[in-house]
Amino acid sequence: MKDLAIIGSGPAGLSAALYAKRANLDVVVIEKEFLGTGQIAESAQVDNYLGLCGISGFDLGEKFRADAEHFGTEFLEGEAVSLEQKNGVWIITLQSGDVIEAKAVIYASGASHKRLNVSGEEKFIGKGVSYCAICDGALYRGKTAAVIGGGDTALDDALYLSDMAKKVYLIHRRNEFRGSDKSVLKIRSRENIEIITPANVTEIIGENRVSSIKLDNGREIILDGVFIAIGMSPASDLVRNIVDLDENGYIKADETGITKAAGLFCAGDVRTKKLRQVITAASDGANAAVSAAEYLKENS
Ligand SMILES: Cc1cc2nc3c(=O)[nH]c(=O)nc-3n(C[C@H](O)[C@H](O)[C@H](O)COP(=O)(O)OP(=O)(O)OC[C@H]3O[C@@H](n4cnc5c(N)ncnc54)[C@H](O)[C@@H]3O)c2cc1C
Repeated sequence: MKDLAIIGSGPAGLSAALYAKRANLDVVVIEKEFLGTGQIAESAQVDNYLGLCGISGFDLGEKFRADAEHFGTEFLEGEAVSLEQKNGVWIITLQSGDVIEAKAVIYASGASHKRLNVSGEEKFIGKGVSYCAICDGALYRGKTAAVIGGGDTALDDALYLSDMAKKVYLIHRRNEFRGSDKSVLKIRSRENIEIITPANVTEIIGENRVSSIKLDNGREIILDGVFIAIGMSPASDLVRNIVDLDENGYIKADETGITKAAGLFCAGDVRTKKLRQVITAASDGANAAVSAAEYLKENS
């Protein structure tokens, strides 16, 4: 039996592995993607991770994985499909049927951005289509961008981008925004934000990069980038009946990663938090590993 099993080898899981190995724990990391390093592998360039600004997301993930390997982390490729605790032992079943037993678990399964599912979206990810204004907004200084969505994230993204972009379109499928009235008021007062409602994007167009979008009202908008902010889906199904989730499906936990289930910790994008980024995921992993080490000590 392992001391600790970590589900997910994104920045949170890999950071947790590094801290856990340094605390002398017997650790296994379970990851469903071949040599996966999480969402960051999809990012063309990471400009906000301290000390490594400008690195590609793929290379950053590889560095994280190499660091976890350096301390002797064991990796197992496979998808965890069930998780239960019996007599104080956590039992993880993989899709292959293999079973892993561990005294504690860190659940670092991440989240994914919801897609618009329109033509051109997949093709232009990283080439004008982004799901993260804080990550990529600086690339649109003096340029034109659109934000798609009507919740708080979309409103915040539009405000954030309008501080640097020449022009921002905020496009929402309904007339009313779900986000806060305060943000809507701020948006209405910004001269470089144009609100277009109700409207749906039907196509994202370009050659090598995004150059325009088409709306279902027939309008075509010439622009440099599209920020899709229609929500995220946390990968929390596996623990739905074990821990508390908030209304959006995120695991309720503070930065210690402690959940209501003894010996089950969470880290990274899958937990309730303000900012979902590499730096906060890595920080979560470190904290959750320390929490797990303390739990193991108290329960040995
Ligand atoms: C396109 C893009 C660009 C981004 N750019 C930036 C940026 O520039 N700067 C920045 O700071 N952040 C950026 N982010 C956000 C950043 O990547 C995330 O905040 C971060 O990766 C979260 O780390 P995590 O470890 O919590 O989760 P993830 O990175 O999502 O990793 C979770 C891992 O768990 C695995 N997993 C899930 N369920 C299971 C299961 N049941 N069994 C086994 N494995 C499982 C997944 O395969 C995945 O590898 C970007 C995100 C995207 C999508």
